[in-house]
Amino acid sequence: NAPPETRRFEAEVAQVLHLVTHSLYSHKEIFLRELVSNASDACDKLRFEAIAHPELMADDGELHIDVSWDKDARTVTVRDNGIGMSRDEIVANIGSIASSGTRRFLEAMSGEQKADARLIGQFGVGFYSAFVVADRVTVFSRRAGAPAGEGVKWESDGKGEYTLESAELAERGTTVMLHLKPDEDTFLEGWHLRSLINRYSDHVAFPIRMPKEAADEDDKAAPRNEWETVNAASALWTKPKAEISDEDYQGFYKSLGHDFNDALAWSHNRVEGSQSFTTLLYLPSRPPFDLMMGGRDERKGLKLYIKRVFVMDAAEELLPNYLRFVRGVVDADDLPLNVSRELLQQNRQLDRIKGACVKRVLDLIEKLARDEPDKFATFYKAFGNTLKEGAAEDANNRERIARLLRFASTNGEGAAQTVSLDDYIGRMAVGQDTIWYVTADSHAAAAGSPQLEAFKAKDIEVLLMSDRIDEWMLGSLREYGGKTLQHVAKGELPLDAADKQKQDEATQAAKPLLQKLKDLLGDRVADVRVSARLTDSPSCLALADYDMAPHFARLLREAGQ
Ligand code: ADP
Ligand code: MG
Repeated sequence: NAPPETRRFEAEVAQVLHLVTHSLYSHKEIFLRELVSNASDACDKLRFEAIAHPELMADDGELHIDVSWDKDARTVTVRDNGIGMSRDEIVANIGSIASSGTRRFLEAMSGEQKADARLIGQFGVGFYSAFVVADRVTVFSRRAGAPAGEGVKWESDGKGEYTLESAELAERGTTVMLHLKPDEDTFLEGWHLRSLINRYSDHVAFPIRMPKEAADEDDKAAPRNEWETVNAASALWTKPKAEISDEDYQGFYKSLGHDFNDALAWSHNRVEGSQSFTTLLYLPSRPPFDLMMGGRDERKGLKLYIKRVFVMDAAEELLPNYLRFVRGVVDADDLPLNVSRELLQQNRQLDRIKGACVKRVLDLIEKLARDEPDKFATFYKAFGNTLKEGAAEDANNRERIARLLRFASTNGEGAAQTVSLDDYIGRMAVGQDTIWYVTADSHAAAAGSPQLEAFKAKDIEVLLMSDRIDEWMLGSLREYGGKTLQHVAKGELPLDAADKQKQDEATQAAKPLLQKLKDLLGDRVADVRVSARLTDSPSCLALADYDMAPHFARLLREAGQ
């Protein structure tokens, strides 16, 4: 038995604590959601470990989460009989910053971006939200499988230090007791706690129980020893669609994605056959802040269940990177329960499930584009640039993804990205077989490019691209609908016979001038030509077919390439 000790939080934990307690003041109540979600994770982990080690369940096989309160002691307690933590695990999990996500969160939050309550749950800083309402938090925990004498008591006022001591605990699992701050009495009301559970945690798959309250006012002081389940406590995705309301779907989304906002849309499907599985996939309405920062290692959005047992967060195994904004659940019937991440990556069945997920998500986005333009616009604003990565990376779905993209255009409304490639093709003149675009650092630069003059004069539409990802995407997206995509600075302009004649004459007339310019510019240019590209400007730089667009070449130079 290790002796009692006092330790300091890692410096970063202290920072996280500070940020969390100061940014959550308007959403205090989410501490309950976060603690219940941890309790539920702990039950998930035990259920999974118990497959290989059934003895861990001992004689306490019914996993549940209990929420109780004590008016006199001014405490709220969340208890689970899940996996529990050893002394070392407590130190590692709640005394230090374990996840890289938390670290990034911290960097982002302490930078210019203001701490945003909406983001906090996504970054695994959930436990610390307890200190928003409590001035002291006590945790009792005993790891499943460990003897009663190996319990641990952890306690902290969230100010920089915590204490640890051994404790004799009769039951496995974790108890988190909050000693409420003086003005947080509202959380000492049973009805209030219950309404929060209904709002935020109804779809936790384990029973959340609360002490049964006496109907009679006089009995309120009587000891509470009867419990009742207060949540739906079922795996939502296993129910028939007809029995699930939109509210149920939204509620489940919020607890799954730790999001305060509604999901934009979802797709719920059951595949039966040689391989059976269920998918419930959501499109969020707002991007998490690190989406464009890569967001690769913080991909917690998609949970893999096997026969209703949570196995792991498997977004990376189940969805391509360009769909990393999707949240949801995949429940497979036929995967081996002892599957490891390594095995999963080589699993053939998983390829099929992954293919099905991609198809479902693209179907869902297509449906929005077709039937719900407002929602599609919201989606595109949030995730359009992420989707463009797919047009480059996913050769199998390139055409489908390209159809979903929207661009600004010389025929469009300013900088708004609303023109689809199909719109463009629909407006093409007879005989035009090229989709013209220009790329630049900003919309203004694209729209003001001198390269556009000849196109304007001939009334040929040009797509105006100015997102960082565009040039890279266009490296792979070279044709669509049988038409070639081409930069306005490249290739031959579409000239009619009269134009050709005029250009030939001009070339003839300018011959001495061209020679002079070539001599002057020497190696710095490949050629000097008379062009039909310009109507107002006297000259411009043009590109050979395989040259990089100028601003892209500049980006590469800036990146030191
Ligand atoms: P996250 O849940 O995103 O990992 P939290 O701050 O909510 O981040 O919790 C930190 C860690 O503490 C968890 O990952 C888990 O390892 C541990 N933990 C918290 N609560 C419990 C619990 N009730 N039972 C077991 N472990 C827990
Ligand atoms: Mg948590």
